[in-house]
Amino acid sequence: MAERWIDFRSDTVTRPTPAMRRAMQEAEVGDDVFGEDPTVNRLQERVAELLGKEAALFVPSGTMANLVAIRTHCRPGDEMICEAHCHLFHYEQAGYAQIAGVAARTVEGRYGVITVEQLEGLIRPPNAHFAQTRLITLENTHNRGGGTIQPYPLVEAICQWAAQHGLRRHLDGARLWNAAVATGIRPADWTKHFDTVTVCFSKGLGAPVGSALAGPKDLIQQAHRHRKVLGGGMRQAGILAAAALYALDHHIDRLAEDHANAQRLAEGLRRFDLVELDPPKPETNMVFFRISPRWGTPQQLADALRKEGILVLPTAEGKIRLVTHLDVSGADVDRFIQAMEKMLLRKK
Ligand SMILES: *Cc1c(COP(=O)(O)O)cnc(C)c1O
Repeated sequence: MAERWIDFRSDTVTRPTPAMRRAMQEAEVGDDVFGEDPTVNRLQERVAELLGKEAALFVPSGTMANLVAIRTHCRPGDEMICEAHCHLFHYEQAGYAQIAGVAARTVEGRYGVITVEQLEGLIRPPNAHFAQTRLITLENTHNRGGGTIQPYPLVEAICQWAAQHGLRRHLDGARLWNAAVATGIRPADWTKHFDTVTVCFSKGLGAPVGSALAGPKDLIQQAHRHRKVLGGGMRQAGILAAAALYALDHHIDRLAEDHANAQRLAEGLRRFDLVELDPPKPETNMVFFRISPRWGTPQQLADALRKEGILVLPTAEGKIRLVTHLDVSGADVDRFIQAMEKMLLRKK
């Protein structure tokens, strides 16, 4: 993609910075399948500590981290409870069913947020007729919900309810860093209510590749085995772990800039009658909006913006998604708003 594009499609589009590339170049490496890559080991220890868990495992993607977690918690014929629009239910090819043999029971959230009342009665009795309810998952921040932060007291209440019913608890925290920066609640305080947690280095943190799964030592040992059979055993992965370590050191606090840019996008968009923000108030680094059919379709708007050198993502629900990240500046936000002004005023 040419340098001049302003790319709001996702926070995955960031490219490693020169300093991150230097860290990668200088990384000490070994064979991680033998457990001998010192940089991978350092990353895993660091992540475990940051998340308040005994151990962590470096994996190539968030999809693999979630799948490995589900396989670690469940056996075939078990059931997991999850929100109806969460990433692991919606965007991961039903890997939980395809590969782990697990059924999903979904609960419709409001912008990705579910309540304890909605969960009452969902545990299946221990009877030969039923799948066995084993696991509950939450996503924070919630991607399709609009980058929504799970309300902390609700996370506590849901996890407490789950623990009382003997359920395992998994957090898909691909964007947990954003939730932590936006609320000031430390990652380890978010994760202490869960058995396992997935985090991502290649979204807002800007590393080229990588996620991690953290949890108790015995579960992470099992996860290590599941990672191998999925093809996730990597060799001199220290080059990638070095980028993730660099990102943890340098790119967490700056997420606040992405959040400020998302607010700036929202303020700019609110001025247009033909635009409706949905959710109305962005909480982190994502802005979703609807364009009035009087103007045209989301795809038409995306095509028109592309001609201005701006990339946005039309979604299946008829919205446009904008994500702010390391490679989007305040000036880029202003250019986007100017382009919108030009287009919305031209047509109506
Ligand atoms: C992106 C994402 C994932 C999956 O990560 P990949 O590295 O793309 O496989 C999982 N959960 C959430 C919430 C995500 O946004």
